[in-house]
Amino acid sequence: MTAPISPEAPPLLGRVVRSFGKHYLVDLVDGGGRVECVARGKFRLTATDASNPVVAGDEVRVLIEGSTSGMQDRRQGTILEVLPRRSRLSRKATSHQGHEHVLVANIDQVVVVASIVQPDLKLGVIDRILVATESQNLPAVIVLTKSDLLGRAERKVIEEVADVYRAVGYPTLIVSTVNGDGMAEVREQLRDKVSTVAGQSGVGKSSLLNTIQPGLSLRVGVVSKANDKGKHTTTNAELVLLDELNGYVADTPGIRAFGLYGIASADVQHHFREFRPLLNSCGFYNCTHIHEPKCAIRAAVDRGEIDEGRYDSYVGIHASLVEEEANQFKSGLRM
Ligand code: GDP
Ligand code: ZN
Repeated sequence: MTAPISPEAPPLLGRVVRSFGKHYLVDLVDGGGRVECVARGKFRLTATDASNPVVAGDEVRVLIEGSTSGMQDRRQGTILEVLPRRSRLSRKATSHQGHEHVLVANIDQVVVVASIVQPDLKLGVIDRILVATESQNLPAVIVLTKSDLLGRAERKVIEEVADVYRAVGYPTLIVSTVNGDGMAEVREQLRDKVSTVAGQSGVGKSSLLNTIQPGLSLRVGVVSKANDKGKHTTTNAELVLLDELNGYVADTPGIRAFGLYGIASADVQHHFREFRPLLNSCGFYNCTHIHEPKCAIRAAVDRGEIDEGRYDSYVGIHASLVEEEANQFKSGLRM
């Protein structure tokens, strides 16, 4: 049972799932299997993003040589071309000089995981992650975990919270890995997509992914605080295949991409989706929506059209970035 592939075979499309040194593991489309590839030397030099010409998530065109015979896969590939990246998660949102370090490419969505209890739900944390995902133009899905620990009255409150986010445009699921509540919906959200998971430690990210695919253990990181510059990690991102869903979960250690680093205080308003239609209606063109008269955002909060909790998150995030900018300015004076 030999299936030789002629050297003249046309290049195939694939997706890079992992890189190690100058080698890449590529999943060929249409169930073509996983092949180890190298990138063509010339290609490496001409890549526009020289610091990471090929990263996990990249869609590539590869030339396959060798064959599979029986159980043995002797195929080898050469990456000829990296298709344009539809999205990217980078280590730095803004780079003053040098190259942006791309961690993973072509993420379709971010799954924001938060527990309802143990630890208690912190909507401010969710809102901060959403500001980060909006700033990178990434769709987000919210998953609220540990619903099995809720009484009936509490459940009603959580449904109301979920409705706030649904109204803003984020699919929001209430789930439990203990009794299976909502898990079918989580699977549907992950189907056919490349997702990445964000959320604080202990909220149930590993349990969630393990329930979907037993044995899956990710190194998913913790969301960093706005003032936490963090340390660079040397581990590469990796896409983990969800066998039954034709989807992937991107395991991106150093998920600092979800911090607010690089976002200017004046831009936060644009990252609250429900604010956008009103931003041109304030009395002052540079309204911060905090203390100015004739503010369309605060008027909408007063009318109950913008959720008060979301608005409070805006105020908190804005304030923390203003403070950070002032500190940066101050330390700049001493340089
Ligand atoms: P991670 O740090 O976000 O990956 O969180 P883990 O998946 O390690 O979960 C943290 C703790 O929460 C563990 O003790 C889990 O057993 C527990 N846990 C996770 N999901 C649920 C759930 O749906 N219900 C309950 N009751 N506990 C859960
Ligand atoms: Zn305003």
